[in-house]
Amino acid sequence: MKNLQAVENHMGILSAAETLGIWKKLQQCREQKLDVCMMSFGEPDFDTPEIVKNAAIEAIRQNHTKYSPPEGLRKLREAISDKLRLENNIQVGAEQIVVSCGAKFAIAAAIAALCGVGDEVIIPVPAWVSYSEIVKASGAECVFLPTVAADNYELNCRELEIAITERTRLLILCSPSNPTGAVYSRETLEKIAEIAVRKNIMILSDECYEKFAFDIKRPHVSIASFNHEIAERTITINAFSKTYAMTGWRMGYSATPLWLTKRIIPLQCHFTNNIPDFIQYAGIAALQSCREEYEQMCRRFARRRDMICELLKEVPGIKYNIPQGAFYILIDISAFGISSQEFCERLIDEALISASPGSGFKAEGFIRLSYACSEETIEKACTRLRDFCRKLLG
Ligand code: PLP
Repeated sequence: MKNLQAVENHMGILSAAETLGIWKKLQQCREQKLDVCMMSFGEPDFDTPEIVKNAAIEAIRQNHTKYSPPEGLRKLREAISDKLRLENNIQVGAEQIVVSCGAKFAIAAAIAALCGVGDEVIIPVPAWVSYSEIVKASGAECVFLPTVAADNYELNCRELEIAITERTRLLILCSPSNPTGAVYSRETLEKIAEIAVRKNIMILSDECYEKFAFDIKRPHVSIASFNHEIAERTITINAFSKTYAMTGWRMGYSATPLWLTKRIIPLQCHFTNNIPDFIQYAGIAALQSCREEYEQMCRRFARRRDMICELLKEVPGIKYNIPQGAFYILIDISAFGISSQEFCERLIDEALISASPGSGFKAEGFIRLSYACSEETIEKACTRLRDFCRKLLG
């Protein structure tokens, strides 16, 4: 008899999220009503703006509840195209945009449409946990390019050139970065764009945190904005999730060269079809009316960044770069001589702080804290972390 469990495909080699162990402990703590400082979550602690909620409710009342084009409503894609042109200087038409179930599926669909067996995808690490698994699911191979705190976690262009082979199809960039909080400089992005054009590789630029760049001297820059050659090789990814505090609404998008859009649309059509119609109406409202809300969120995150960096100075044994964007801080815990998984498990057990182990981000020796939480939580967590680290150091 055949062994059904032995059937292997690319999906069979995906790893479960490294945060699962921490997640289970967190559930237990919640059941016991323990006062845990929640710093492992990657979502804004703000509510979705009222105007967005009302737009969705009104759209349901208007019966926008049926199938619609798999790539998204024309009106929404036009609003996205306007946004990309006006805010990011990316010249793409509505026909080059696909609205998907979160940035996550926008990334998955673009990579599945572009990459396959025999291809290599370069991922600078530390990196968001899902890139590698999405690449593996496509059948392509991940090539991890380590980056370091001293270089602000920007990839080294010489090392990039060496990593590129005949099989390289794609380089993934994420700025502002989850998990490092680093923002790429324009100069480095220009060098990367020049290499990508010369070596003829594609770039996936994940810009989900673009609105949370804190320093006017280091603004968010879209690589697709530089010139026509790089625009023709760039997949720009963005989402409503972080910018408008809409993580649960599941709405993201890709903007790609038309030849690639034409491959993504049928793929999405067969896998998920359109995201709910009424949510797309909410997306139009968000794009048109919520600037003030995300600017306010950005100011709050910047203040919390300042606060956490100040408080962490009191914690012995750790090192960290000051984040320039997003709402994460990556902390070097290698001095304690235990794995990031063990550190996080003990952190929740002994200090009631939930953090993410660096191992999931290909950053062993680090933990990630999210400061998308109240100032009170940040203060409490830093005091607990200080005491925990003191105890670990003996
Ligand atoms: N890209 C990055 C860098 C992220 O951190 C996340 C979510 O945490 C996503 C994409 C996925 O976003 P979405 O919730 O829109 O699928």
